[in-house]
Amino acid sequence: MHALCRPQIYLVALSLHAQTSYFQRVFFDNSLTRDTYFYSSGKMSAPSVLELERGKLPVDIHTFHTPPNALRLSWKSTPEGGWEAEVRLYEWRNRPLFFPGNSLSFWCYSTEPLAHLPRLVLRDSAKNFTAPLEIHRGLAARRWTQIKIPLHEFITASIHPFDLHRTTSVFFIQGATDSKTHRLFLDDIEIVPEQAAPARPTPAKALVAKGYERHIDLSWTPAQNQTVTIYRSLENGPFIPIGIQVPGVNRYADFIGQVNAHARYRLSSGSQVVSAATHPMTDDELLTMVQEASFRYYWDGAHPVSGMTLENRPGDDRIVATGASGFGIMALIVGVDRHFITRRQGLDRLLTITHFLARADRFHGVWPHFMDGATGRRLPVFGMYDNGADLVETSFLMQGLLAAREYFHDAELSNNITALWKSVEWDWFRRAPNGKALYWHWSPEYSWHINHPLNGWNEVLITYLLAMASPTHAIPASLYDSGWGGYPKEFTGPIFFTHYSYMGFDPHSSYFKDLRQMALANHAYCLRKGYPKGVWGITAVDGPGGYVPYEPNPSLDDGTIAPTGAISSFPYTPKLSLDALHHFYRDLGGSLWGIYGFRDAFNLKENWFSRIYMGLNQAPMAVMIENYRTGLVWKSFMANPEIARMLQRTRLKH
Ligand code: CA
Repeated sequence: MHALCRPQIYLVALSLHAQTSYFQRVFFDNSLTRDTYFYSSGKMSAPSVLELERGKLPVDIHTFHTPPNALRLSWKSTPEGGWEAEVRLYEWRNRPLFFPGNSLSFWCYSTEPLAHLPRLVLRDSAKNFTAPLEIHRGLAARRWTQIKIPLHEFITASIHPFDLHRTTSVFFIQGATDSKTHRLFLDDIEIVPEQAAPARPTPAKALVAKGYERHIDLSWTPAQNQTVTIYRSLENGPFIPIGIQVPGVNRYADFIGQVNAHARYRLSSGSQVVSAATHPMTDDELLTMVQEASFRYYWDGAHPVSGMTLENRPGDDRIVATGASGFGIMALIVGVDRHFITRRQGLDRLLTITHFLARADRFHGVWPHFMDGATGRRLPVFGMYDNGADLVETSFLMQGLLAAREYFHDAELSNNITALWKSVEWDWFRRAPNGKALYWHWSPEYSWHINHPLNGWNEVLITYLLAMASPTHAIPASLYDSGWGGYPKEFTGPIFFTHYSYMGFDPHSSYFKDLRQMALANHAYCLRKGYPKGVWGITAVDGPGGYVPYEPNPSLDDGTIAPTGAISSFPYTPKLSLDALHHFYRDLGGSLWGIYGFRDAFNLKENWFSRIYMGLNQAPMAVMIENYRTGLVWKSFMANPEIARMLQRTRLKH
């Protein structure tokens, strides 16, 4: 190997695993909400006291180790009583639950010297717990101090061994009793190696700031291999730390919340000072802003080797998702057409993706749901049986590829896409030569064990349309009735049903009025249930307690809203979708707006905002806004001659 090759390999390795490594060390860094921390709780027995707000630990925005906040622990310990404060791990989708480190570390601060710190208890993912551990030290006043405890000092107190590498709760509990009130600020709870090799910082060079209506977007190169702190001077005031960015990510969204605010910025890793201002924007410009931010998830947020879409960010840096990559391809088309990137850049990315897809795992021409973005090997994320072909995900992918084929009209790309399209054996998924329906999965090891026939009404119309349109492995048009179920009698369910099949396929060719009615009904339900004006679009999403197939009915609604629900409905409900966009950005942006636009979901009743972005949820916003504005992606997809021929053979009407 030549020495010159190394820096490049190092950079790929860095961006491949930087986020995963960070979240395999960091247990708590910041709260997305400014008042209380969702993933906390507390208990107390009088006369001891623990300060809680609505059952949660308070967040402090003035005293922190890493900006913009820290947790605040206020207690009074008495011999007759007790208290405990729990900080839970936020276990978002695909977060690798393994901390390779061997010491618990946290930073604390007190305005007065403390003779004793609270005792500590840990709990693991199997709910085993440790005996309360005394911290044999006090704390000096007014100095952030790191407390570091080797994990072997924690001894199990449950009947099974405690697995310290899978710690999911850190408890601070009553220790020495003096019946006085004490206050401790807690930040950056981590599980670290006993002796960490210091990372050599690479100074950020090109820092760029760009102002929007209420926020300023920062980006820099190269991505840093350690946490970056962002400093801001507002209206020529002093520079203060406002936030951090995790290793491997080179963007930051500073939501100021005001129009005509002037700010200067610099980074901890050494950069020049740049400035920008927020400014009034038209609704048209706001639409472009949301499109570009969502598009970024699929551009600089994509897998660095394959260019495919990561299932979620942060998540597991390996896992690319097949259907979300199809959505991402349609977002790339928007990105090229709106000049977020050049046509050449978009084309190069599509060539990378199609080369990857040609060498990735396939079963009867059909890709798995999830793959390793570096190797193309299947990743059975959803369980043992789901380790083979996924026909629905493949149809979402193919919808994007076919739209790209007609949009770019590039000889090499067209050849790549046509070869992939021709090799998908749609008809194999009838299970038998005369099968009446398509089946979702097939596995080389477990055959048809999942046994999931595709019957409407739901998100999978596109699977039947593409299977009927295939130039090589077509199914008869009769399966539209016998499998999908013909024209739906009733359009109900999560609102994503009106998006996934209609990002490329133009619903004006049949279903448009019913889909609009479904979006209107979703809005009407939210209004009836007392959601604030502009908050609507109930859809299946990861809520405060994990994934729920939320839909507008009382048994599947807990107050969780995904911005993609209302925003991706723009073609159906432009006025109501714009109301939602205004409210989500202007009123909730402080917690909801981030580097890829709107975060995945929020729940105002629970004071909860998701930390992640989902590959399936960002692109529909960019693409459906574009379809509303220009019909671009619809036109590109519908221009495929196979689609036109299929529509002539099939009657998608009442
Ligand atoms: Ca912090």
